[in-house]
Amino acid sequence: MGNRFQVQDRLKGGAQYIDGRLRPGTSGHSHAIVNPATGEQVLSHDLAGTEDVDAAVAAARAAFPGWAGATPGERSDALHRFASVLAEQAEDLAQAESLQCGKPIKLSREFDVPGTVDNTAFFAGAARHLQGQSAGEYSGDHTSYVRREPIGVVGSIAPWNYPLQMAAWKVLPAIAAGNTIVLKPAEITPLTSLMFAQAATEAGVPDGVLNIVTGTGREAGEHLVGHPDVAMTSFTGSTPVGKRVAEVATATVKRLHLELGGKAPFVVFDDADLDAAVHGAVAGALINSGQDCTAATRAYVQRPLFDAFVAGVADLMATVRLGDPFDPATDLGPLVSHTQRDRVAGFVDRARSYATVVTGGRAPGGDLEKGAYYLPTLIAGAAQDSEVVQSEIFGPVLVVLPFDSDDEGIALANDTPYGLAASAWSRDVYRTGRATREIKAGCVWVNDHIPIISEMPHGGYRASGFGKDMSMYSFEEYTQVKHVMYDNTAVVRKDWHRTIFGDR
Ligand code: NAD
Repeated sequence: MGNRFQVQDRLKGGAQYIDGRLRPGTSGHSHAIVNPATGEQVLSHDLAGTEDVDAAVAAARAAFPGWAGATPGERSDALHRFASVLAEQAEDLAQAESLQCGKPIKLSREFDVPGTVDNTAFFAGAARHLQGQSAGEYSGDHTSYVRREPIGVVGSIAPWNYPLQMAAWKVLPAIAAGNTIVLKPAEITPLTSLMFAQAATEAGVPDGVLNIVTGTGREAGEHLVGHPDVAMTSFTGSTPVGKRVAEVATATVKRLHLELGGKAPFVVFDDADLDAAVHGAVAGALINSGQDCTAATRAYVQRPLFDAFVAGVADLMATVRLGDPFDPATDLGPLVSHTQRDRVAGFVDRARSYATVVTGGRAPGGDLEKGAYYLPTLIAGAAQDSEVVQSEIFGPVLVVLPFDSDDEGIALANDTPYGLAASAWSRDVYRTGRATREIKAGCVWVNDHIPIISEMPHGGYRASGFGKDMSMYSFEEYTQVKHVMYDNTAVVRKDWHRTIFGDR
C-alpha cells in the first residue's frame, strides 16, 4: 500500500534533520509510526531527546547571521526553488501524508500538497515585500523609519492533523522573514515534515536554517519551548497543551504565537439554500475525518428548516464512501490513530444518555475493522451546555441544534470558549453581514465553510489562541518592528532639553 518502502529508504539516516542532514534521535526511546488504515507499522524511529534539541537550536543559531543577512531577493530565490522542488515531489509527499495520517489520497493530492506548494510560492514573493510605515519627519526635527527585523531562532511545534501544511505554515513566514527555525512535528506523523526539510536543502536553503526534531511533547517539545537560545515559540495544537506551552515560554519571556483548538459553528438562517447548506455541512464536518480545527462541528438551524436539514444531512452522510485511503474513490479514511478513534467514540457514547445519535455513532467493522475508522455521525437533541456542543471532538461528528430568532442563532454561535472559524448561510446580505460582524471568530465564511487561501490570514480569537498563519499578517508574528529616529538639526542644545536644563 502506498510508497512505504520508499519512505523507509528516504529516512534511513534517522528521523532528526539537523544542520542539513538526517540523524537518529538520542532519547533512548523509539516510536512506531502506524498506518491507521491497517494498524501496521510503517517505520520505527528513534525519538529526539534534549541533546538533539540542543544540537538543532545550535545549528539554527549558527545559520542565523548568514540567513538574516541575505537579501530579500536571495531568500525569495531560495523559496521559489523550494516551491519547485516540492511540486516535483508532489506525489511522494501525497503518498507519505496519506500513509501516516490515513487521509484519502485525493485529499492529500488536491489539498494538502498543492496548498503547501502554493504557500511556499506565496512566501517566496512575500519575502521581498516586508512593509512598514513610510519614513518621514513626524517630529519636525527628526526623520523616523521602521525596520522589520527577524527575531532569531524560532521554535515551532505542530500537530498531526495536517502535518505537511502545518509545517509549511510555521516554517515559511519565519524563514521568509530571515529567521531560522527548529520545528517539532507530532511524533506520530513526522514523515512529511522531514521530507519538507530535505526538499528545502535540495532547493539550496542553507544548512541549519530549517531543522526538524521528532520527539515527544513532554521531552523534546518542552525543552524547545524553554530553550534560552530560542527567541520565539510558535505552537499549533490543542488548547490545553497551548496553555502549558504558554507557561513554559513565559519563564524565558519569548514571543509567543498560539494556534489552538476550535469548535466552529455553522449557522443556517431560514432563507438559506437548504441543499447548499446540507452539502456544505456534510463536507465541512467530514473533511479530514473531522480532524480539522475549522471543521463544521455545531450546526444551528433556524426552526423552519430544522427537520429538513437533519434529514438531508443524515441521508447525505450515508452516501459517503469509507475505504482504503489509497483508493482514489475513497471519500473518508480512518482517523489518525486508534487512540483518536476511541476518544471520538467516547464523546458519542456519553452523548447517548442526553441526546439522539441520528446516524453513525460506531466503527464500520467488516473489511475496515482493523483500521481506526468511524462512521459519519450526526447528533441531535443535545443541550447547548452539553459536552458534545462545548468540547472539541476532532472526529467526523456534527451536532445539530435549532434556533428561533437571528439574535439567538448568533448568541449560540458565540457560546463556547473557542473562536477560530464559523459560517453563516443565508440569501440575505444584511443577515450575513450582521453575522460576519458579530460572530467572534478569526474567519467567517458566508455560504461556504472550509476554503483557505495563502493570501488571507488564519488564526483564532479567545481560547483558539492568537497570532496569524499564512498571508502578510504572519510577518507581524515573525518580525521585530524597530523604530529608528535620526536627529536632523545637528544642534547641541535641543528644544526639549529645556525640560532638564530650564533656561540655563
Ligand atoms: P496536541 O496539543 O496534543 O499536540 C500538538 C503538538 O504539541 C504535538 O507536536 C505534541 O507533541 C506537542 N506537545 C504536547 N505536549 C507538549 C508540551 N507539554 N510541550 C510542548 N509541546 C507539546 O494537538 P494534536 O492532538 O496533535 O492536534 C490536534 C489539535 O490541534 C486540535 O485541538 C486542533 O484544533 C489543533 N489545531 C489547531 C490549528 C489552528 O490553526 N488553530 C490547526 C490545526 C490543529
